[in-house]
Amino acid sequence: MAVIGFIGVGNMGGGMAANLAARGHEVRAFDLSADALARVADKGCIAAGSAGEAVAGADAVVTMLPAGRHVASLYRETILGTARPDTLLIDCSTIDVDTARAVAADAAGAGFTMLDAPVSGGTAAADAGTLTFMVGGSEAGFARAEPILSAMGKAVIHAGEAGSGQAAKICNNMILGATMIATCEAFVLAEKLGLDPEKFFAISSRASGQSWSMTSYCPVPGPVPAAPSNRDFEGGFQAALMLKDLKLALDAAKSANASVPMGAQAEALYQMFAGLGGGGKDFSAIIRLLSGEWRP
Ligand code: NAD
Repeated sequence: MAVIGFIGVGNMGGGMAANLAARGHEVRAFDLSADALARVADKGCIAAGSAGEAVAGADAVVTMLPAGRHVASLYRETILGTARPDTLLIDCSTIDVDTARAVAADAAGAGFTMLDAPVSGGTAAADAGTLTFMVGGSEAGFARAEPILSAMGKAVIHAGEAGSGQAAKICNNMILGATMIATCEAFVLAEKLGLDPEKFFAISSRASGQSWSMTSYCPVPGPVPAAPSNRDFEGGFQAALMLKDLKLALDAAKSANASVPMGAQAEALYQMFAGLGGGGKDFSAIIRLLSGEWRP
């Protein structure tokens, strides 16, 4: 079993760190939030007094932080100067591709093996240990990381070289944002045309309009009982996080000179929805904006 430094034990990292501890790893956790740290200490992790204390002597370091600037500064200020040279470095945060590649290059320059390994699946999957990891970095690094990531997820997929995990994540979520909006528009139009939403779902979910947005997170209540639309759009994947991922996709598209008109439209609509107070709702709640019924 390994000694793992885990930095960032918030909504996602808390469950992930607890799952590593449950599998017998020695997890030295650190978070700027004392509450978050206390929660994982209750679940078998050791609360470290600082990021440096969590990193020193660890076999692997996992970070799960809000954004690229947090990852870059923690690597620059603490991890690269404190970790043992053979420590495996894994960043699971969702961050921009350019920062992911820059941090990986700095780590490689300092002699470390580093991977970007963002996740798909929300807090329920983090708690249950059923996340999907999309991993960027060397084959050898991936082979070392797989047993650690498998303790927190149901699928661990090597996407390619450094930054490829982040690229896969934001491209996937750009599809998700656009298909959700298209699905919402179709349900609103179907109803205005006199179709019963249950009947439309029964048809479209088995026809060519089918997508994950429709069959897992159907934006109208009824057809998919587990979907957030049945719970006033509470829980699920917050619209604010979808907006974050769409912004990352647009940044990456600009950097790579790629044309993403649907992604740009999705970003504009989620920006509008967040601006009207919808950021805390599940991202399928954008149907209320499209139907003209949104009340924060
Ligand atoms: P969160 O805000 O709950 O957790 C982040 C934690 O990092 C916080 O507890 C914060 O105190 C801590 N932190 C920030 N800077 C720190 C530092 N320098 N040192 C130590 N701790 C620090 O966020 P989250 O929902 O857990 O998301 C984490 C990452 O996972 C994000 O990049 C997010 O985009 C991604 N993600 C989230 C979800 C989701 O459903 N919540 C799903 C997939 C991916």
